Order: sequence, then structure tokens, then C-alpha cells
Amino acid sequence: MYHGWEGIRTRSRKTIGKSALSPMKLTRLWLQWVAGWYYNCLDWPVGHIFPVEPSLSRMVVMRYQGPIYRPPSEADSLLIQATVGCPHNQCTFCMVYKRGPRFRVRPVADVCADITTARIEYGPGVRTMFLPAGNSIAMDTDDLMTVCRVAREQFPDLERMTVYGSSTCILDKGADQLVQLYRAGLNRIHVGLESGDDETLRRVKKGATAEQQIQAGQWVMASGMELSLYVVLGLAGAERSIQHAEETARALNAINPHFIRIRTFVPKEKTPMLRDWQQGRFILLGPHGILREMHRLVSLLHVDSWLTCDHYTNYLPLQGQLPGGQGALLSALEHGLQRPETDYRPFFIGRE
Ligand code: SF4
Repeated sequence: MYHGWEGIRTRSRKTIGKSALSPMKLTRLWLQWVAGWYYNCLDWPVGHIFPVEPSLSRMVVMRYQGPIYRPPSEADSLLIQATVGCPHNQCTFCMVYKRGPRFRVRPVADVCADITTARIEYGPGVRTMFLPAGNSIAMDTDDLMTVCRVAREQFPDLERMTVYGSSTCILDKGADQLVQLYRAGLNRIHVGLESGDDETLRRVKKGATAEQQIQAGQWVMASGMELSLYVVLGLAGAERSIQHAEETARALNAINPHFIRIRTFVPKEKTPMLRDWQQGRFILLGPHGILREMHRLVSLLHVDSWLTCDHYTNYLPLQGQLPGGQGALLSALEHGLQRPETDYRPFFIGRE
């Protein structure tokens, strides 16, 4: 999914100590981070290796490994890592886990121990929880249900528990297991649709066809869970912009997700798509091309969804409830097309 683009490589605010950091502490933190990064590359759990000073202990006790990303909408969520890496790890636009660590599922006992630690640290009042890393729906269903139940026991006020999940892993689960997970307390999945255009999905090596994505999305919706779908404007380049917009609208209409979250393609360093662009095989869309693509997409939608451009890669911070907000979104896009391209953020190559 496109969560590599969720922009903020972060540990949630709930995982970071609040004490003021002196230059000495910052230096020590930096050294620990470098050492932690090195051991992460070796696929070792940092928290087991480095004793750290008490004021920073939350970052270690919670035992994060590898890149930890979360959607912007989970900025205030408690992050409890359930899996490490991504089992697919082939998308040509994504660099998140390309340098490792390899995908693995954390032992359920470790995940539950982290939940218990979090309860001690933060008390019972946690309201939202996200389970990184890149595809935690791939976890064994019984184990994931155990994690959900323990979380609900430890945090009785928990309103939302969410994971990233690819369409192929959702299909592997099957509709019945999704219902079981929902009943155990998992109530939102973030899925990277990216595009509804088969040719684009094939080119970026997404590992799923549009029909598979539609089926997976429909199963999630039928399970009772909330579904956040991510769409990447510009992913098809100039060559297939129209097909990308139209086929993505078709897929979204077939799924009718709760949330449509818009991102704009930015080439990331050390990815095949950056090389394709540098060598002239991929033509990037500029701001007007992106806005035209989004205009086409929005004009074709027939959904009851909250559409939001909640990401730093986008040119306009638009959002609105569909279908009622469709006219306002289209007007804003038309207004945006009147502005010169120099009004928009400059081009950049993503570094993380
Ligand atoms: S599925 Fe894996 S490789 Fe594809 S975008 Fe998500 S994290 Fe990256």
C-alpha cells in the first residue's frame, strides 16, 4: 500500500517521552538511534539490546523494529507493533522496507506484553491504537484476535483499533475471518488501492488486480469494519492519467469505502520508479496534470465516502463528504487550475 507515503516516519506522540532534551541527552539519543538502526538492519530487536536512560525508556521498552509508519489519521494513536516489514515489498514506488528488515510476525506474547507495558505507561484511557508495520492483517487470524482482545481488556475505552492490510492478504483471510476480527475488536483497515487501473497496478508491481482489490474492499465493508482506501494521483504518469482516473473511480464506486485518502506521487530515492523517470521511461505529471486527474476522478465518483487529501504530497488540501461535497471539490479543483503551476509546492525527490 502507499503507506510509505504517509510521510511522517514516526513513533506516535504516545510513545515519546515528554522530558526536555539537553544537548547531552540529544547526543546520547542520536548515538542510540544510530546503534538501533544498525541492529535493526540485522533484524534484531533493539529493545532487548540497549539499556537507555529512564527518561527515554518508552522508546525502547515498546520494542519497535524497522521503519514504523502510520497514517496521518493515526497521529494520536498508540502504536503497538504486530509485524515487521512488508510481505510483498515489491511495489516500484515504495522504498520503505527495501533495505529490510525482512517480513516477520512478532510473537503474539511479545505484542501482548507491549500492550500491557503501554497500559502501565499511559493508563487505561487510550482511545485509538494502530498496529504497525506494513501489513499486519497478514498475521494469523487467531493471534490477531488475541491481540485485539487483550487490547480491549487493557484499554476499555478503546474506540478504534486499526492495521494496514493489502488486498491480497485480505483475500487470503476470507470474508468470514474478517467478520471474526471485527467482532474481536479490529474496526478499521487502511488499504493501498493506489489505482483501479490494471495496467498501472501491473507496472508498479502492486501484486493485485483491480478486481482483487474490489473484492477485498467489498469484504471489508461487509465485515462491519471501516475501510480507508488510498489513491495515488500521478502514479500512472502522463501516459495513462485518464485511464488511471477513470478506472480508479470505477473501483471506488464498486467498493464505496468509508474514506478515500488522496496522495500525490513523488519519486522516492532508490526506487525503480525514480530510475524510470530519470531515464525518460516515466513522464511525471505537474500540478495542473495532477489537478486535472483528480477532477476527472472526483467527477466520476458515486460514493458515500469522506474524501480527504490528508498528506503533504498533495497540491491542494481538499476534503469533503461525498456525494454532497462533490460540487465544491470540483469547483476548488477548477479554481486551482486557474492558478499558475509556480504557485504550488516545488518538485522534490522523497528521501523516506
Ligand atoms: S505493500 Fe509493501 S512494498 Fe507495497 S507500498 Fe505497501 S509497504 Fe511498500
